[in-house]
Amino acid sequence: MSSITERLGALRSEIAAHCEQHSIERIPTLIAVSKTKPNEDLIEAYEAGQRDFGENYPNELKVKAAELSKLCPEIRFHFIGSIQKKNINSIIKAPNLVGIQTLASMEIIENVDKRLTSSVNVMLQCNTSGEENKGGFLEEEDLFRAAEFVKNESKFMKLEGLMTIGSVENSKKAAEENVPNADFTKLRELQQKVAERLKISPDDLSLSMGMSTDYLAAIEQGASVIRVGSKIFGARNVTK
Ligand SMILES: *Cc1c(COP(=O)(O)O)cnc(C)c1O
Repeated sequence: MSSITERLGALRSEIAAHCEQHSIERIPTLIAVSKTKPNEDLIEAYEAGQRDFGENYPNELKVKAAELSKLCPEIRFHFIGSIQKKNINSIIKAPNLVGIQTLASMEIIENVDKRLTSSVNVMLQCNTSGEENKGGFLEEEDLFRAAEFVKNESKFMKLEGLMTIGSVENSKKAAEENVPNADFTKLRELQQKVAERLKISPDDLSLSMGMSTDYLAAIEQGASVIRVGSKIFGARNVTK
């Protein structure tokens, strides 16, 4: 089996070539999703030049960040898991945390906001597929209100953009039928609408979309941030 270093190198080349082929000038930020993976794996990726890492579990983030902030001083953590009131502190107090991508309700936003003591980039998670088991804003008005709060009222939150996970079905359909992924299309529409509401340029809102199975499609549809895990670190042990 190839190493993390090799897979990361191959992935970067593939992304760069894909951007060139589709005349995309800004290569998206690659977040290496390292949930359930041991610190040695993150260190290997870091030594291969990777700086942005995504973690899903508050306690795991807290433990990993405490150690890795010393060993890998330039590491940047992005929280991409579901947030509950009781674990907000584990997330926001993690050293080297730069972003939270999964703010999905006004209640959690207000709770996070109250406890912040330094700046953090935030993304609003959108439930573009409408699946019941997916987190994220479902109603546009709720999303707009959250965006307005973050932009105009929060002292420490910097509105970075919008994030979606999307459904497996939409991802498969897009690949099989060679059509745009409906979830990614939807997130772009929301980017336009939120920008309009906030009176900013849509370009000022990043889009975090695309994972191991569909990051190339996401790039074609305008992703500014992609979140890739298993393709870099190998399959995860599901019985976490
Ligand atoms: C686990 C996870 C990923 C990465 O998934 P892979 O399929 O391993 O690339 C991306 N985004 C979120 C929100 C995740 O939970």
